[in-house]
Amino acid sequence: MSGQGNTEQSEKVEVLLNAGLNAPPTVQKEIIQTLASLIYDEKEAMEAITKIALSASSIDVKMEAIDTLASYGLEAIPYIVKITKAGPDSLYGYGAEAIKDIRKRHAKWKRCPNCGALMPLNARFCGMCGHRFPDAEGMGR
Ligand SMILES: [Zn+2]
Repeated sequence: MSGQGNTEQSEKVEVLLNAGLNAPPTVQKEIIQTLASLIYDEKEAMEAITKIALSASSIDVKMEAIDTLASYGLEAIPYIVKITKAGPDSLYGYGAEAIKDIRKRHAKWKRCPNCGALMPLNARFCGMCGHRFPDAEGMGR
């Protein structure tokens, strides 16, 4: 759905990406923000942000990228996983927390492990087979 013939925008993105790969952390953070607001196609935006994050050596930049990606919702999880896996190890907790948060905010359904029926996230029992869910996730704290 991204507009064809929008070469001016993709050139801009290209330039930003190239600049971002070798930039100092503060500039990389700004570029992440700019990319997020510049690119309408969500997948393209997430890919670009991930690229910057993976090239960054600063954990600050990676965290910024994770935060920005998180605003895209569930679709962002694979990208956050990629950044988190690339390390450093100290990033792991942050990435895991971000993913948990997204799931909490966006997931409305869970699948019964016993019969496969979809049940509301806060259900305590499966309405189809009566299976008891181990923890009522998403109930809020
Ligand atoms: Zn069930």
